[in-house]
Amino acid sequence: MAAVVVVGSGLAGLLAAVRAADAGHRVTVVTKGTLDEGSTRHAQGGIAAALFADDSVDAHVRDTLRAGAGHCDPAAVRVLCEEGPARVRDLIRFGAAFDRDESGLARGLEAAHSRARVVHAGGDATGAEIQRALVATVRSRAVELVEHAMLADVLTCRGRACGVRLLIGGQYVDRPADAVVLATGGTGQLYGRTTNPAVATGDGVAAAWRAGARVDDLEFTQFHPTALAAPGTPLISEAVRGEGAVLRDASGERFMPSRHPLAELAPRDVVAREVAAAMRRHGDAPATLDATALGAAFLARRFPGIDAATRAAGYDWSREPVPVTPAAHYAMGGIATDLWGRTSVPGLFAIGECARTGVHGANRLASNSLLEAAVFADRAGRVLGEPFPHAHAASRAQLRTEGAAPRSSAAGPFTRAALQDLMWTRAGLERSGDGLAGASALLDDWALAQPAEPAPAVEAIEDANLLLLARLTVDAALARRESRGAHHRLDHPERDPALGALPEAA
Ligand SMILES: Cc1cc2nc3c(=O)[nH]c(=O)nc-3n(C[C@H](O)[C@H](O)[C@H](O)COP(=O)(O)OP(=O)(O)OC[C@H]3O[C@@H](n4cnc5c(N)ncnc54)[C@H](O)[C@@H]3O)c2cc1C
Repeated sequence: MAAVVVVGSGLAGLLAAVRAADAGHRVTVVTKGTLDEGSTRHAQGGIAAALFADDSVDAHVRDTLRAGAGHCDPAAVRVLCEEGPARVRDLIRFGAAFDRDESGLARGLEAAHSRARVVHAGGDATGAEIQRALVATVRSRAVELVEHAMLADVLTCRGRACGVRLLIGGQYVDRPADAVVLATGGTGQLYGRTTNPAVATGDGVAAAWRAGARVDDLEFTQFHPTALAAPGTPLISEAVRGEGAVLRDASGERFMPSRHPLAELAPRDVVAREVAAAMRRHGDAPATLDATALGAAFLARRFPGIDAATRAAGYDWSREPVPVTPAAHYAMGGIATDLWGRTSVPGLFAIGECARTGVHGANRLASNSLLEAAVFADRAGRVLGEPFPHAHAASRAQLRTEGAAPRSSAAGPFTRAALQDLMWTRAGLERSGDGLAGASALLDDWALAQPAEPAPAVEAIEDANLLLLARLTVDAALARRESRGAHHRLDHPERDPALGALPEAA
């Protein structure tokens, strides 16, 4: 029996905790806010899996590899698609009530899927239902649950993870563990426009990096094409376009059919860049999403959450197109793991959005992230007590800030808002070598002006983590001199076959 600390209480963390408890381990879940906070409960469209007779694991693998733009790990994709159906059935066993129709489980179609295979709950409240079911399940197990406990760092002893340093009520508390499981979610708060909740500050990725773990693919951030252009940029799920809504520019013209054969259901990176281009053509006026053809009754029944969000922002989307903008949505990169959630640091696991398993490559297929969280949380839960088969030294790059000379900067002192703006404009949907180099210089200035250790306060630790992640992201984006999937370099617009080590088709 091992003492296991799971950090984070979204789908990945809670499922791993349940599995670990069922395997007989002594499990503690620590989480930054309340148990139900995180991206999981905001997930709308659903979870993709080859559950239906007209679908197959091979078709799901093919779609995932194609969306990943030659950068997926085919072995990880196969694990995802093969084990996905069983994990969805597990969620149903844990009490998640997915929507049903006369044929059984109801299913939706989303961008770049060749089949309708996305199961959903409460119309567009899939994540909330999964979160509810898992919170109830974990509460039924002998798992210690600690809310408002923030991971500050992963503790290491002789090269292996041996616990966590937590910030609880303004005090640091060290908690020893035989295995540490990071399930801290995404990094969306790096960007000024994001669909992610406030807790998505990439703390786990930053802490893992400080502990010497390998991180990978940080240049690949998925920008969702359709966040409502209103405060908080709430997401309007791709499933709305799957049901037939279309995109128009500010003059009312539908632009996607002339840009891509799949029109509004082209891969997300393509649609997001086209929305941004349409906005540029019209002096940055938002594009619009026209769902009026779907009718008020259908919209309210199928998408009750989005219906409420659009109305709260003052729009009636059954009668008028609503303004939309791209927004940072999902981190394909993160803490590098093997097929069992093991990082390069023995004793340290990473699962869910904070992990880089290789299933998403350069661009995530819609609704594959809940699936990834479930599949790899389950796998990690199965090997938690076992010795790590590998103990490779991390290929840890030196931070460019070391030895850098301070510069005076016109952009002003560090604030989180200034960092988010910098990342949005220089390391967002479209990047260039010059823009990234400028961002890099400013990040140097900001880093040099920071104290060696952040104050023991949630915001100060988050800021330090965001600054570190911005540095790692900008360095990765500078190094990748090509355009691939979600990483689009204006100065290197083509894909460089030499940089795509992995095949695009199985
Ligand atoms: C609006 C929205 C809609 C989405 N829709 C879909 C969809 O339809 N289908 C799909 O597949 N994916 C969707 N996604 C993506 C998907 O929801 C996430 O990738 C997935 O839920 C991640 O699960 P997770 O368990 O890894 O992280 P999360 O659910 O984000 O949980 C992370 C947890 O870690 C905690 N945490 C963070 N930092 C710390 C710290 N320092 N110390 C302690 N705890 C910490 C958080 O509080 C939280 O409990 C959507 C995302 C968003 C934002």
